[in-house]
Amino acid sequence: MTATDTATFESLNPATGEVVAVHPVHDAAAVAEAVAGARAAADWWAGLGFGGRAKILLKWKGVVTRRAQQLAEVVHAETGKPHADAMLEIVLAIDHLSWAAKHAAKVLGPKKRSAGLLMANQTAIVEYQPLGVIGVIGPWNYPVFTPMGSIAYALAAGNAVVFKPSEYTPGVGRWLAESFAEVVPAHPVFQLVTGFGETGAALCRSGVDKIAFTGSPGTGRKIMAACAETLTPVLIEAGGKDALLVDSDADLEAAADAAVWGGMSNAGQTCTGIERVYVHEGVYDEFVAKVVDKAKAVRAGSDGQADIGPITMPGQLDIIRRHIADALGQGATALVGGADAVGERFVQPTVLVDVPEDAPAMKEETFGPTLAISKVRDMDEAITRSNDSKYGLGGSVFAKRRGMELARRLRSGMTSINSVISFAAVPSLPFGGVGDSGFGRIHGPDGLKEFTRAKAITKQKFKAPLNLTTFSRTEKTDATVAKLINLLHGKR
Ligand code: NAD
Repeated sequence: MTATDTATFESLNPATGEVVAVHPVHDAAAVAEAVAGARAAADWWAGLGFGGRAKILLKWKGVVTRRAQQLAEVVHAETGKPHADAMLEIVLAIDHLSWAAKHAAKVLGPKKRSAGLLMANQTAIVEYQPLGVIGVIGPWNYPVFTPMGSIAYALAAGNAVVFKPSEYTPGVGRWLAESFAEVVPAHPVFQLVTGFGETGAALCRSGVDKIAFTGSPGTGRKIMAACAETLTPVLIEAGGKDALLVDSDADLEAAADAAVWGGMSNAGQTCTGIERVYVHEGVYDEFVAKVVDKAKAVRAGSDGQADIGPITMPGQLDIIRRHIADALGQGATALVGGADAVGERFVQPTVLVDVPEDAPAMKEETFGPTLAISKVRDMDEAITRSNDSKYGLGGSVFAKRRGMELARRLRSGMTSINSVISFAAVPSLPFGGVGDSGFGRIHGPDGLKEFTRAKAITKQKFKAPLNLTTFSRTEKTDATVAKLINLLHGKR
């Protein structure tokens, strides 16, 4: 991706450096225009109700499904990831779109709540109303799956969306917006703005009703600062340094397979990718030998046979190189890959052992196909070291007896037991992190509610025998209420 002039920029194929397409740089005025259009469309969209919107979203789902190969081509061209991996993220995104469309009414529709004894004469109702216009700012590493986790849920909840994709994957954003416009040609319910950070910042300041951001924690801080100016609420899905824990009774073959796939698929450019592995000392040697065998079989390249593609963002190569070099300089050993693994566009799998716990390779997001494996005395030490991180996105535990206990103790938003990253593929589960990994939840009922405001309504059923909300309230009423509250709550 390079800026050509102030009005357009090129997206580049990271495997070859060739230009994929040219896109407009939307400035603040263009962003404001898109948001104004979305604002008008939002009323029409909300007015369709859950049923009307579900029908349209499921129609869009059909279009995306039937043309998934074409979309995968765009993802492949802009990110360099293998075609099959592009298809995998599209398949998962389709599943989320379907779930959001089908479940919004049940999750967000009006529900009666108990009004309690004091307000027994009232019917109490809660419903979840759309916020209006949602600004979605996305990353490049999963350019379909990641933004769809906000877009599908925001639309299903009744909002219009203005989407700013990463400057590395604008074509994917364009494909999504154009395919939606085929289904809803007359109303700009889902619009696209393209460009760099300035375009995203303009979206933050445009008066949208919420920003759903996915990207790095550093950019997340800038987004919050910009949104603070207008008290625009934000949802932050940021980076991670996820750990995989291997207990002494784990299925080591499965754990090693999961560690290698979790750490190296998509060339390690996965927010919930495995970057650290803590292994019980009783099975450490056997586990490491299995990981080494499997990692040696993984190859980065751009031919059809390669397992992983290039590093999409050239600047990340320096970070990966620095993390590996620093670890080796501090006494770590590379059992696979190492200092020479980082090329001009590709990084070959790297397995490090004996990395000091305070090294950048253990503390900072590497975002490359690297694993740092550490031996632990017991699983308590594994938990302590895993949790000693500013991040807390996902994580994984391989264990037979203590899997659930260890999963609960990991300080993260999501954990898989005896698999990796499965939580992201379950549409009904919330997705999001703690600490520098962000806050708020996409996916599932929580994800739908993120894009709504809870509205409370009470409707009087009959005149209250004890009317508390009047100046003509008597002393007798107050005394009866005091007696009542004592009976209800004063026993202990
Ligand atoms: P990034 O933070 O560089 O950019 C993300 C988006 O923010 C881009 O669209 C960019 O143009 C925009 N942006 C940049 N500066 C901005 C500003 N000042 N105001 C508004 N918008 C601005 O992140 P990236 O490199 O595209 O993505 C990689 C990061 O995303 C990694 O840290 C990864 O872990 C994280 N990620 C998190 C999740 C998750 O769900 N938690 C999912 C995928 C990726």
